[in-house]
Amino acid sequence: MKYALVTGGSRGLGRAISVKLAQMGYHIIINYVNRTDAAEETLALVREAGQDGEMLKFDVSDREQTRAALAAWQEAHPEEYIEVLVNNAGIRRDNLMVFMPDEDWNRVIDITVNGFFNVTQPLLQPMLRKKFGRIINMSSLSGVKGLPGQTNYSASKGAIIAATKALAQEVARKNVTVNAIAPGFIKTDMVEGLDEEALKKTIPANRFGRPDEVAELVGFLASPNTSYITGNVISINGGLYT
Ligand code: NAP
Repeated sequence: MKYALVTGGSRGLGRAISVKLAQMGYHIIINYVNRTDAAEETLALVREAGQDGEMLKFDVSDREQTRAALAAWQEAHPEEYIEVLVNNAGIRRDNLMVFMPDEDWNRVIDITVNGFFNVTQPLLQPMLRKKFGRIINMSSLSGVKGLPGQTNYSASKGAIIAATKALAQEVARKNVTVNAIAPGFIKTDMVEGLDEEALKKTIPANRFGRPDEVAELVGFLASPNTSYITGNVISINGGLYT
């Protein structure tokens, strides 16, 4: 059995990624923090795709909780390891910096940056020992370009890009690749409340992207055939950034 962990797998991009990796033959570990109902729906879709999966609830920003959940999983599967990790869990709490509450600054950084560390670190050893691993980190156009109203989110997604590049160099010899994806506007719960009609005029493709389009890119980076792609940031944005 080959295992993939998708953080924030209950909804949006994480759900589409879970389905894509299931289609590639992975048993999917669907992480989420609140929405058990949504995680159950993802699990049903994974099963429809012909693979099994399981739900693993933990808050990626909570180091003890995350470590305990991953240690319990490993104990229950002593002979197995998670070979694909998609660090996808994320939130946004937009505000101009001048008005930004401390709580909104901290929460976004905690989930994206500390979450990346909390989940990735315990899974690295087994990947290095088995000499195969794929780590895919969900960054954002906001982390590449910086977007006004998102200093917290841009800082966190920029940090993820730098961490991706650094970690990629630490583990490349062991056939563990680490890449980041930088989506533009993708239609999920996260972009609800944005003015899609106005924003899509700024996108050369003249539309928001779909979660399955991002999932396709994750599938590509997760493939054993892409061993020589590491430390990269791949944008998927309908031409918005370029
Ligand atoms: P979404 O629809 O809002 O889903 C967010 C997911 O993250 C949910 O599964 C949620 O779980 C999970 N999550 C949130 N906080 C968590 C925590 N502390 N611990 C564990 N899981 C947590 O968002 P999305 O649009 O799919 O975004 C997925 C990723 O892509 C994020 O990192 C986001 O920043 C990035 N991104 C999105 C876009 C876009 O346009 N949509 C663009 C660029 C980058 P629950 O269901 O339990 O709440």
